[in-house]
Amino acid sequence: MINIKKTELLRLNQNKIKDKNILMRVDFNIPIKNGHIYELYRIKSIKETLNFLKPTKKIVLISHWGDPISKEKNYSLKRILPILEKILKTKIGFLENLDSKIKEKINLLENIRFFKGEKECDLNFAKKLSTLGEVFVFEAFSVAHRKHSSVYLLPKILKTYYGFNFEKEIKLLNEVLKNCKKPKINKNRSLALILGGAKISTKFPLIKKFLKYASLIILGGGLANTLLKAKGFEIGKSLFEKEFLKDVKKIKSHKILAPFDFYVINKNKIYYRLLGEIKKEDKILDIGEKSLNIFLEEIKKVKFIVFNGPLGFVEDKKFELGTLKLVKFLSKFKNKFILVGGGDTLNFLEKKKLLNKFKISTGGGAMLYYLANETFPIFSKK
Ligand code: ADP
Ligand code: MG
Repeated sequence: MINIKKTELLRLNQNKIKDKNILMRVDFNIPIKNGHIYELYRIKSIKETLNFLKPTKKIVLISHWGDPISKEKNYSLKRILPILEKILKTKIGFLENLDSKIKEKINLLENIRFFKGEKECDLNFAKKLSTLGEVFVFEAFSVAHRKHSSVYLLPKILKTYYGFNFEKEIKLLNEVLKNCKKPKINKNRSLALILGGAKISTKFPLIKKFLKYASLIILGGGLANTLLKAKGFEIGKSLFEKEFLKDVKKIKSHKILAPFDFYVINKNKIYYRLLGEIKKEDKILDIGEKSLNIFLEEIKKVKFIVFNGPLGFVEDKKFELGTLKLVKFLSKFKNKFILVGGGDTLNFLEKKKLLNKFKISTGGGAMLYYLANETFPIFSKK
């Protein structure tokens, strides 16, 4: 469990950053669909930190956007600039590359993943990047598990302070760890994980670790599909990840619950199907009521709940019902500790105006990584 040192908390060190040029890693990795940009809470959430940085000299913000292979125009952060200026109510300078002139008080560097060396975690690149500031502020919880230059190497080069949001998220997760990571917790069913979504690769390797201390793991979305396929069930054309079938096959635990009824699409028509009835041309896009009701009964018994990843294809209203019913159910509890994380999951809550009902973590993968490993690579000494 990481307890950030007082000397590394931004909140407690305003005098140290006064009159310094600040380099800050943030997460503006907001979804864009059909040309429309939404999920603005990620931008809104750094307002407090920026306010606190007023006594500093210049500020350069670093973020990634998507996972572009090359400099795709679609993923240029220039597109976010007007939104940023509107939310932060100030002019923002744009830095096309590392040599661009830093003109404004607050500046935004072009998508960091456009630069060779970022994902390669290249030290020379990180050194060049570090010249954009004198002090580093880390405020990008959702990528804290990545070994990328602007995440992993900058803290090893510049004096680093952890921002308000990062500190808050670590505190929340520490609370889960303190309460749930005890052996023999099974009887009182203390922690439940609800995992759905698409990104199986980041989530599956963690399930094994969670089996030790979670009392219940509910799977949905692509994760459940992969498990069902591994167990030999027909899932038709549904989303799953081949590389994990072997690993998943080995997992045997009474703690894992997977759905057994679904809404599927087949030649543009929606059908309700039980597990075992799924046809080769079917695509599972939402969970059915029977499975969901059993999940909800089990959830009632648990004190702590960590939820990441929608249970269905929530971008389409026709397939959001399972996830919607789940979050509405969760939002009613007053005396449970419910932590919800992940970009797409929070986006769904924001859309349904339920975001303020939960404790939230901006990272999905990062949140699970921290719960499983109790630390992040950025905190390693090496
Ligand atoms: P988060 O960003 O919250 O961590 P993920 O990125 O892992 O979540 O997954 C979210 C995505 O998973 C959503 O776009 C959702 O449509 C998709 N998804 C969930 N269930 C299914 C399904 N059965 N088939 C296809 N996509 C699904
Ligand atoms: Mg996502």
